[in-house]
Amino acid sequence: MNFDFDTETAEMRDMVVRFARRDLGDGTAAHDPEDFRRRWQLAGKQGITGASVPAAYGGSGLDAVTTAALMEALGYGCPDQGFAFSVAAHLFAAVMPITEFGTEEQKQRWLPSLASGEAIAAHAITEPEAGSDALSLRTRAERKGDAYVLNGSKCFTTNSPVADVFVLQAATSPGGGFFGLTTFVVAAGTPGLTVGPRYDKVGLRGSPMADVYLTDCVVPAADVLGEEGSGAGIFSSSMKWERTCLFATYLGAMQRVLDSTVEHAREREQFGRPIGGFQAVSHRIVDMTVRLESARLMLYKAACGLDAGSDDEIAPALAKLAVSEAAVQLGLDAVQLRGALGILGGEAETFLRDALPSRIFSGTNEIQKNNVARALGLGGRRSRKLRQR
Ligand SMILES: Cc1cc2nc3c(=O)[nH]c(=O)nc-3n(C[C@H](O)[C@H](O)[C@H](O)COP(=O)(O)OP(=O)(O)OC[C@H]3O[C@@H](n4cnc5c(N)ncnc54)[C@H](O)[C@@H]3O)c2cc1C
Repeated sequence: MNFDFDTETAEMRDMVVRFARRDLGDGTAAHDPEDFRRRWQLAGKQGITGASVPAAYGGSGLDAVTTAALMEALGYGCPDQGFAFSVAAHLFAAVMPITEFGTEEQKQRWLPSLASGEAIAAHAITEPEAGSDALSLRTRAERKGDAYVLNGSKCFTTNSPVADVFVLQAATSPGGGFFGLTTFVVAAGTPGLTVGPRYDKVGLRGSPMADVYLTDCVVPAADVLGEEGSGAGIFSSSMKWERTCLFATYLGAMQRVLDSTVEHAREREQFGRPIGGFQAVSHRIVDMTVRLESARLMLYKAACGLDAGSDDEIAPALAKLAVSEAAVQLGLDAVQLRGALGILGGEAETFLRDALPSRIFSGTNEIQKNNVARALGLGGRRSRKLRQR
């Protein structure tokens, strides 16, 4: 076991931190789609938007551990956590499914522009009536000759207001459970696909999000990703990437906020000495450090599993749980330790608002716990032994 990054990875992290601080803005400006795309293209030039895409398709060809390191550096250097989240959602929920399940033709068609930062992707599964219960989604895809006709609506779709490509889940066999869903790759501007107004969110404000509507949207059968009925499997695979590498952006953001909190505790004086000298303050900071370090270890362990080709879904679920819970608690602690300054819209308050949604997206923390409990044999149904008693 080795907990150190090699020199090349360490240099890449430093480079990404410098780039993010210099070029990605602090997230305080009002959302401007043109500026968003300008920053996206810059991130593309740095190899960030296609970090885990193979070099043969224009990506950086990084493994999961190195991709996580890059994402952590992005979160550390970029105070606009919404922007970092958007880049990560593009890469892990939309681009990686094309990378892993696309045909050669699909990969050649979509990946170079998605990796280079020229194009932005969105992934849409959630619907008004199907959130945690994603398998019961209502968007229908009916086969008509060489195409499918899609009808339905999606909500909370990250990047949809600016997306060039949509990776969409629809039911080809309604009620078919795990094998009832199919994934489609649909270009923006396809007749029948429209995007609603951008949401105004309390957190991750730099990440544009809207609803997506499908009305008699005709998609060629050649644009099915994987095979008909393989949508849930593709979704599960992308969630392993998301629950691991996307959450690495939060590790970086937590480290940034922790660093500035330590600085504040060293400098702010009350009762004639720095507040960091009071045990209640210093212990709170040590607790923040323990949570961050534990979450980081769990996340990199999950990334190692991805690189080893493990089909374990528990390590990514545990990483997601650990990082998001640590993030929310760290945000609360960072606000508390700044006193009234903490609620005046600075770094700690912004981070707390950005941390809250992390317990919800990529499958809520309650759903992750259900999945882990099931893996522990706590499925809810009484075992035959118990029933016989
Ligand atoms: C910032 C952000 C970005 C997002 N981006 C995308 C995106 O790009 N694409 C996309 O498709 N979706 C996206 N989503 C949607 C996200 O996937 C859903 O919000 C999430 O799956 C939960 O669904 P829901 O909001 O409908 O909550 P619900 O499913 O209605 O859940 C409400 C509450 O009930 C709990 N609950 C539900 N069922 C159970 C159960 N069986 N056991 C225990 N508790 C349960 C939940 O844990 C939660 O606390 C995003 C969400 C957020 C916040």
